[in-house]
Amino acid sequence: MYITQVGAECTPVAKVGGLGDVIHGLSRVLAEQGHQVEIILPRYDCLRSDLIEGLHRAYEDLQVPFYDQWLSCSIESGYVDGIHCFFIDPHSDHGFYQRGRIYGEVDDPGRFAFFCRASLEFLLKTGKQPDIIHCHDWHTALVPVLRWERYEALGLERPRVCHTLHNLAHQGVAGEYLLRAVGLEPDRLMTSDRLLDRDQPHAANLLKGALVYANAITTVSPRHAWEILYTDQGMGLQETLHAHSHKLWGVINGIDEGTWDPQTDPHIVRTYGPEYLPGKAYDKRQLRRQLGLEEAAKPIVAIISQLDRQKGVELMRHTAHYALENSCQMVLLGSASEPWIDELFQELKRHTDGSADCRLILEYDEALSHQIHAGADIMVIPSIYEPCGLTQMTAMQYGVVPVVRRVGGLVDSVFDANYSDKAFEEVNGFLFDVPTSAGLESALRRAIWLWFRYPAYFRQLRLNGMYTDNSWFGPAQEYLNIFEGIRV
Ligand code: ADP
Repeated sequence: MYITQVGAECTPVAKVGGLGDVIHGLSRVLAEQGHQVEIILPRYDCLRSDLIEGLHRAYEDLQVPFYDQWLSCSIESGYVDGIHCFFIDPHSDHGFYQRGRIYGEVDDPGRFAFFCRASLEFLLKTGKQPDIIHCHDWHTALVPVLRWERYEALGLERPRVCHTLHNLAHQGVAGEYLLRAVGLEPDRLMTSDRLLDRDQPHAANLLKGALVYANAITTVSPRHAWEILYTDQGMGLQETLHAHSHKLWGVINGIDEGTWDPQTDPHIVRTYGPEYLPGKAYDKRQLRRQLGLEEAAKPIVAIISQLDRQKGVELMRHTAHYALENSCQMVLLGSASEPWIDELFQELKRHTDGSADCRLILEYDEALSHQIHAGADIMVIPSIYEPCGLTQMTAMQYGVVPVVRRVGGLVDSVFDANYSDKAFEEVNGFLFDVPTSAGLESALRRAIWLWFRYPAYFRQLRLNGMYTDNSWFGPAQEYLNIFEGIRV
């Protein structure tokens, strides 16, 4: 099958969070299975071009209409971990992708609406007719709308569009002028069953457009597919989702086992696997040396996360207090999404920096994240909202036992050691329901207690996690089934 991914991120060249990991991991496994896969991305100035093999200019002067102008773009092309990627580089005063970062600009809706139009224009002009265009989140939500409303008639007849929802909290709400800018007709599209936003009477909701126009909608776990239909996690789009629920599926993410494998990880000092765990003990000592923590008979409780309201900021802080009060060591690696959150954690860092048992590293550090995975015993993920979550899966891969809130994809991947109906070999962590300190403690207490009192059982949980199949193979097959169902 010929599949074109269109997205705002791709690990490791343009990553903010899990979205980049998914586009990269899924593309890789589909390509390994013999499918023709390519990825279209914006040509950000902050792109890690040093990680792109054979980067070169592949297409000159692609003329893309925007408002009443034609913007000239060049297309660069190269390989990221063997996957063919195309990068759209507009030459205009807007400097759409020259901002030193991927998101967070006031004109984000315009930047990404242009990206949608340019991607389709690129496919059209180069005569590409993929079987499937796979788009992700609000940034590429206009792709299914534009394909149907404009590009089908222009000749882009073959592709069918699958749109994956990674995070409904961001929907791309903009003035209807933006539709005009990319060549759509607001008068026809601004209705309640199409793009009209539910809450803002004159605004277009781009993600809503994707739900209406895509041939298939997926979200990143079966549990989250249910949550967005039946709870407030639908973030105002429940009605539209219900109207289109016949084409909605939940497919859990996998993790890229090439990147997350303690048996081959170049970032860690001693590699290890389920058959050889002593390497993990060595890495734990190494992590302590590296972070200046005391060598002691204590579990290391870790958090690696964006420090964002959605991730349970208060519960993360409580985790640190509770772990330290209960004879554990604590390591937190995270970067804050907003200044007030940064200040909360800076304050905690000032209080704990002198401690022999606690380190807060308030930045984004990929290598350190791998080293913490290798050294830690327990990983806490106290999310308020979590469509899938990857850290619980990478943690398991490294023999770190996850303690997670019972929400979204965490429910589909973590099975409680005490309260799950799974067989003993399949339980791999601890869950809690209520997002309060008491809720968190109800699970973290059990994990810590097991580490101190029943190390053999704790070790078995580590092994169960390491043997859990969190690879992309199963999910990729599900995506292929969905693609097969909609292709012509
Ligand atoms: P998100 O909602 O942030 O995408 P996910 O759990 O799906 O959450 O994916 C986040 C990814 O980013 C994980 O691989 C996680 O380990 C990684 N990550 C988050 N914060 C940091 C950080 N400060 N340093 C390194 N890696 C991080």
